[in-house]
Amino acid sequence: MNKLLRIKGYFMGAERLFPLLILLFGLLVCGLPLPADAAGRMITSHGQTYVPLKNIAASYSMEISAPASDRVRLRNKWHTLEFETGGRRSWIDGTLVWLSNPVREISGKWVVEELDFNKCLDPSIRPYAFLAHAGSRTVVLDPGHGGKDKGAVSPRNVYEKLVVLDVAKRVRNQLQARGIHVQLTRERDHFIALSDRCRKAAAMNADLFVSIHANSAGDNRTVQGIETFVLALPGRYSSNAFGRGNPPTTVYSGNKFDFANAALGRRIQKNLVEATGREDRGVKRARFQVLREAPCPAVLVETAFLSNPREESVVIDADGREKIARGIANGILAYLQDVQRAKKQ
Ligand SMILES: [Zn+2]
Repeated sequence: MNKLLRIKGYFMGAERLFPLLILLFGLLVCGLPLPADAAGRMITSHGQTYVPLKNIAASYSMEISAPASDRVRLRNKWHTLEFETGGRRSWIDGTLVWLSNPVREISGKWVVEELDFNKCLDPSIRPYAFLAHAGSRTVVLDPGHGGKDKGAVSPRNVYEKLVVLDVAKRVRNQLQARGIHVQLTRERDHFIALSDRCRKAAAMNADLFVSIHANSAGDNRTVQGIETFVLALPGRYSSNAFGRGNPPTTVYSGNKFDFANAALGRRIQKNLVEATGREDRGVKRARFQVLREAPCPAVLVETAFLSNPREESVVIDADGREKIARGIANGILAYLQDVQRAKKQ
């Protein structure tokens, strides 16, 4: 369970009650929701620990309902969490977020894996509870590809490397207008190796890293929408390759930012979908090199499918690229506000 709920041990003896009272008092002062004794109700099955959805509802003071035969919805005044039963899709305030493991039924209860709750759902719902030590000074934008590496190429010969450089500069303009310090890993159309992108970000003292890309589904013209990738959780498969290439058990340096990655990913996906009105393909998990080696919280955003004629038109149009940039900038601003709020608590 999350750090609020990892307090089960304190119930073991009366001599340990005092730290618990101090913790509860701290939580009340901070205005955080109380876990409502959620820790006592976790379920262990085949060596994995799960949290019942009813338990999560209780910890956030949410009502629970089933809007469809394959959905469970948790809702309070501020937030709505929806789960696809038997699947890995969840919606956090309407934004699709892929869980590492499906919501399953154990002993008549719908449950999510503890790790998904701790490192994905909870930091997305309560980012301010996890970001007190996150930096907020320098944003590094990383336009993907460049030079000899064109990236995806659209049917009308639009190059990903040029689209994402233009979008990155527009994001920079918008953030600079809000007084935020922004650096780019490349300013021109030239090649940079993946590891050099992360080294540059470290040298720039990046507090958050956003790699900007455009997608392609090859000859399939129908696939469309926006995806934001964050680093896969250790021991869990990625959403795109199901672990191919990088063993799911490996812990990467980027894993120390799991909480912030989840918070940043959700903010960017939500704002990008809102700004563009394009399809929400969700916050996903991957072990891309720039996510593994990033020196700070990091996401890789796939802003559009160049292989889809409508989205190709969006990126050809300067207004379309400006909207994409606004979505990314708004997501970054929302995350920075989460960090500021966390530091005040
Ligand atoms: Zn790319």
